[in-house]
Amino acid sequence: MKAAILQEFKKPLVLKEVPRPELEANDVLIQVEACGVCHSDLHLADGDWPQLAAITKKPLILGHEIAGRVVEIGAAVHDLHVGERVGVPWIHWTCGECAFCREGHENLCVKQKITGVTVDGGFAEFLKAPASHAIRIPEGFSSIEVAPLFCAGVTVYRALKQVRISPGQRLAIFGIGGLGHMAVQIARQLAAEIIAVDVSDEKLELARSLGAAIGLNAASTNVAKELRARGGAHVALVTSAAKAAYDLAFSCLRPMGTLLVVGLPSENICFPPILMSAREIHIRASAVGTREDAREVLAMASKGKICCHVTARPLDHANEVLDELRHGQVAGRIALAFS
Ligand code: ZN
Ligand code: ZN
Repeated sequence: MKAAILQEFKKPLVLKEVPRPELEANDVLIQVEACGVCHSDLHLADGDWPQLAAITKKPLILGHEIAGRVVEIGAAVHDLHVGERVGVPWIHWTCGECAFCREGHENLCVKQKITGVTVDGGFAEFLKAPASHAIRIPEGFSSIEVAPLFCAGVTVYRALKQVRISPGQRLAIFGIGGLGHMAVQIARQLAAEIIAVDVSDEKLELARSLGAAIGLNAASTNVAKELRARGGAHVALVTSAAKAAYDLAFSCLRPMGTLLVVGLPSENICFPPILMSAREIHIRASAVGTREDAREVLAMASKGKICCHVTARPLDHANEVLDELRHGQVAGRIALAFS
């Protein structure tokens, strides 16, 4: 099968033929129809996060926003069948036994395997996944549309679910990329007043078309002043991986506001304790999502409430797509598509 392989950090992916994965009894073989390209793929390819670089399989097939069709099932698989369409998210496998799995937070499983990090992902014609963790895709949308829901969609969905935004509260979203444009649509369902912040007018325009009340360009506007004039943000969701976005988001919060950590810069983020205390600021982080979160996101998409803006590109373009992400040129999502 054809695959884009990460052989060394900071080097282009190598496109080549590799053997199809071999199934174990509980696995299914999936023919990939689409795989979204996430900002995390870029960080992984560059070895930006030491904590993940240390556990990254090499050589590795990246990609954790996968939609495809089951073409073969292992001997012990009974609940999935050949021909069914399934998705494979970041969380590849969880133990089901640790405290976090038992408490319903399998995204924090201490033994988890991660798609496109510790096991091969979807920048390839085929991948294998445990049948227990491959998520059935409802009819009604294409694999290209649905693939990005498995990371971009589920990640912002869980993050917003955790902060319990009330109707009318101000939510500022910093970074209107793959995650940010999904966050705008999910927040619209919560009746939040959405303020989109980015440095690209094109992305801000997309945010407004999806339901943001205002779009502020951080390159040309004093965003903190604008937001404070409106009373400050109840919640500042940062999907950008730029440290500067966190510094700005912190300064836009109203007292008792929540900074919601989703985008992952490689540098540490830090804030003055005197302001954190004086304003009783909350800081909350969220990590992708569970299978249940994914099913809830798929249900929202099935009802037409959210929809990822996706452009399809062939697998051969994987390196170019990573470069476009590196330069902030992607509005919405790009998915590698296989036909
Ligand atoms: Zn991702
Ligand atoms: Zn576990």
